[in-house]
Amino acid sequence: MITLNDCINSDAQDPIARLRDQFALPDNVIYLDGNSLGAQPKSAAMRAQQVIQQEWGQNLIRSWNTAGWFDLPSRLGDLLAPLIGARPAELVVTDSTSINLFKTLAAALQIQAKKYPHKKKIVTERQNFPTDIYMIQGLTAWLESDYEIVLVDTTEQLTAAIDTETAVVLLTQVNYRSGEMLDMHSLTAHAHAQQALTIWDLCHSAGAVPVDLNGCKADMAVGCTYKYLNGGPGAPAYIWVAERHLADFAHPLSGWWGHATPFSMQDTFTPTATIRRALCGTQPVVSLALVESGLQIFQQTDMATLRKKSLALTDLFIQLMTEQCPSNDLTLITPRNHEARGSHVSYMHPHAYPLVQALIQRGIIGDYREPSVMRFGFTPLYTRFVDVWHAVAALRTILETQAYQLNAVRHTVT
Ligand SMILES: *Cc1c(COP(=O)(O)O)cnc(C)c1O
Repeated sequence: MITLNDCINSDAQDPIARLRDQFALPDNVIYLDGNSLGAQPKSAAMRAQQVIQQEWGQNLIRSWNTAGWFDLPSRLGDLLAPLIGARPAELVVTDSTSINLFKTLAAALQIQAKKYPHKKKIVTERQNFPTDIYMIQGLTAWLESDYEIVLVDTTEQLTAAIDTETAVVLLTQVNYRSGEMLDMHSLTAHAHAQQALTIWDLCHSAGAVPVDLNGCKADMAVGCTYKYLNGGPGAPAYIWVAERHLADFAHPLSGWWGHATPFSMQDTFTPTATIRRALCGTQPVVSLALVESGLQIFQQTDMATLRKKSLALTDLFIQLMTEQCPSNDLTLITPRNHEARGSHVSYMHPHAYPLVQALIQRGIIGDYREPSVMRFGFTPLYTRFVDVWHAVAALRTILETQAYQLNAVRHTVT
């Protein structure tokens, strides 16, 4: 049996325990939702003040040049690159994940249509995050072409579903609900053997698990910065295109920021040769600036160290749940084997929503996802081993005393 003392010892031996001090976390909260909205880096508050008071307030429009506003999407991309196995200058931080999905899918379909016009299948998972599926549906409906959307039901069926008719494979590496992680390397290799292109959604991967986009020879990738990367609510997302596709990468949102010379004000769109062709229009500078605060903390460690701690945290949670909450109503839906696990753990329970609400009332913040899933994110930068202990102890008490409201009010955001 694991004891509270074991958890205290694990924290004492944790080589990155001190990184938690860089986050503004309230004392009375155990935060297990960094997979949905990352905690606030303390430096973000100072940075926001600097951007608003100094750069905007005092320097006004000159800041596009003097404060590096214009270069921000590229500079942030360079900072993020090592976390996802990309090289500097291969990605930009801009727009939302949904919009970047649109751009990558449109560009990938066009590249494929020129080379392999017979390929009409777009393969994804039925369990994928809804916006990924919705964006495929929206774009293909608008194209009025005869694309076929293949929604694969289980991850085991993915390989067989990616066949010679497949144009594009759009997958999320770590599933938002179950926390299951796909094998990016083998699925990309299989897709390429079928002459299909891959788009990887890294929303639950970047900053949570090591990613090697170039090592896997992935084609394109997108992801958000407000989850494990701690960029702030609604922070801009990123878009990565493999260098070999860049010259052919054309998307329909051809705004002036993607132009080779935006301030030459020409009447014809000529895309820049760099990844900045993935930009559309003027960037949300205040939000964008705060992304840097989150990324700077990652520079003080590396993904191998973070992965080791993440697995230790999720292992501990699963083990403690087995020991302390032996309820037959609880079903673990996250893989037990490390290769297939991201950095969050999910359980199904018939009263999952009321249980999550009861936990939140006690200051233990996880979240709820349809259907009947309790989801707990373990952010290696700031989650402590004792946090895991106290979260399970609280859930045990709630379950044993049935201290939850079956008719708990459903909030808009669950
Ligand atoms: C969080 C998440 C998104 C969110 O997309 P937005 O456009 O930022 O709202 C998309 N895909 C996945 C897999 C996610 O987990």
